[in-house]
Formats: sequence, C-alpha cells, structure tokens
Amino acid sequence: MIIVMRAGASEEEISGAIRSIEEMGYRPHPIRGVERTVIGAVGDERGKARLQALETLPGVESVVPILKPFKLASREVRREKSEIVVGGKVKIGGEKLVVAAGPCSVESQEQVLEVAHAAKEAGAQLLRGGAFKPRTSPYAFQGLEEKGLKFLAKAREETGLPVVTEVMESSQVDMVAEYADMLQVGARNVQNFSLLKRLGVAKKPVFLKRGMMTNLQEFLMSAEYVLTHGNPDVVLCERGIRTFETATRNTLDLSAVPVLNEMTHLPVMVDPSHGTGHFQYVIPMALAAVAAGADGLMIEVHPHPEAALSDGAQSLKPSRFALLMERLKPFAAASGRTL
Ligand code: PEP
Ligand code: MN
Repeated sequence: MIIVMRAGASEEEISGAIRSIEEMGYRPHPIRGVERTVIGAVGDERGKARLQALETLPGVESVVPILKPFKLASREVRREKSEIVVGGKVKIGGEKLVVAAGPCSVESQEQVLEVAHAAKEAGAQLLRGGAFKPRTSPYAFQGLEEKGLKFLAKAREETGLPVVTEVMESSQVDMVAEYADMLQVGARNVQNFSLLKRLGVAKKPVFLKRGMMTNLQEFLMSAEYVLTHGNPDVVLCERGIRTFETATRNTLDLSAVPVLNEMTHLPVMVDPSHGTGHFQYVIPMALAAVAAGADGLMIEVHPHPEAALSDGAQSLKPSRFALLMERLKPFAAASGRTL
C-alpha cells in the first residue's frame, strides 16, 4: 500500500503515519518527493486492507494499493527518477551521463593505475574492476581478492574516481564495502536472495546486473529485495541476455532501457562489453544505449587486451575508450544529457 500524505503535511503527521504503519506490523518506507511525501508500507500481503484505516489520520490524503508485484522499485511509489550518489560525488540518474570504466579483472597495481588514469583522462566518473571473479571454469583466474581491492583503493586515491567492484557472497560484503564505493552484484548472482538481503543492510549503493535469463519483472523483484531490506540505493544494469544468437556473447536487450524507465524510478545503466563480447561492437551499442535513454554505461578497458586474464576480447584499449567518449557527445546531447 502507498500512504499518500497531503502536500504540506507536517513532520509530526508524517512520523505519526510511520508509527501507525509499524504498529500494524508493516515496514514503512518514506519517499520524499518534490511535491509530497508518500510512504510505502510493505509486508505480509494478507490483511493489508487493514492499512486502509490510515486514511483517517491527520495529514494523510489517501491510501492506495500498489498494483505491481515490485513495490518500492515501482513508479507508483515514486514518479521522479531516483538519483543515486556514489562515493559522495557521482550522481547516477541525473542529467549527467555516468560512465564506469576499468578492467574486467584487477590484475596488478600497475594495470589498475594505468587504466584508472586513462579512464579519468577520457571522462569516466567511476572506476570498475573485479577482485572477486565469477568464472565459468574453476581453473580460470578467480581474482586477486583483498589484494585487488587494495589496488582499486589506491587507484581511487590517485585519481579520485569512486570504485565499483563485485561482491559474490554475503560473507564478503563487509570486506568489499570497506574498500569500494559501490557494490556490484553480477549477472550470476542476481537471484542470490541471501546476498541481496545482506546488501539491503549494507551502507553502500548497489550496482545490480541483470541475469542472463532474468526477465524484467524478475530483475525488479531482485532490486526489491535490496530496497525492502533497507538500502534505497540501487542502480540497474542491462548486460545482455541469452538467446539463440551466437555472433555475439549475449544479446544486449536495449528495449529493456525504455521498458525499465517506465516500470521503475531506479537508474538504468548498460554494459555493452558483456552485452556483445567483442570490442568492435562496444562503441555502436554504447551509442545506441544512450539514444535509448540509459543513465550511464559500464565499459571494460584494458591496456593490453590480448594479455588480459579475463574478457580481453571485449575490452577496449584506452585509446578506443577515449574515442567512445568523444563519439558519445552528440548522442548525449540528443538525449538531453551532458557528459
Ligand atoms: C563483470 O562485470 O566483469 C561481470 C562478471 O559481469 P556479468 O556479471 O554481467 O557477467
Ligand atoms: Mn568481465
């Protein structure tokens, strides 16, 4: 249910409504909009009609059901797009497009520093890089783990770029959150519900990648896990889904961008690197993502893709990444964005 407060309702009336929701056994999620505050009340679906009685409280305008199965993620509770702040300075979901760039895997301090400086120079605002790697083969490089997180933190110190990096299991959340500014959930973990619940109580924003076999409703239900457990800062990322096509690694589902923008207020980014699997398709699909209304991009960049320990084939050299950033400009402008 959504408890819609009157425009100009007092703080006292808002906290009164919040208390009443709690007393009825539901979790209140106040969402402060430009015009008015609404309070999402989520919990046991049975008996939720009781919440209707809150309509008689002072300051409450109406109590309406949320029709979508994802509640806090839906546009019903918040009409304006959410802006998620990363590292205290980078806003995702605003007018400015946000580009996260960096290697698939953190391989050495030199590699991360080289990419971070080049990415910053070209205009990226976030540094990405995996220290815990979800690999199909148990014999493939699994990541540098905490050492890799330290390399990322050092690169942030030198460049000022906030860091987004993957966390693969609940037991790692505290450690990864100590070094990172944003916690990535990879495609393979999008329905790891215990991890999502744990991230709900983490103090860092979450970068949630769509699973390769996750439809958009399921994707938003995964975001809902994080939101309802207390963390309102979730950014969605389309990274390609599995289809019968083999010319590309995945099929980048760009129609997900306008559809998600209609379904949810959460920012939507696109990863054309995993979406295509081949460096030569990354620029065209990045441009298309921005034209489709994405709030940002995640791009894999490696100084020597041929020697990369993972995903070399889809990684851009720094010079090509700089070309991408240049070519994005007219597309950003045409979509009413700045870069
Ligand atoms: C990654 O970002 O390097 C990654 C493993 O992505 P995905 O989870 O989308 O495959
Ligand atoms: Mn990768």
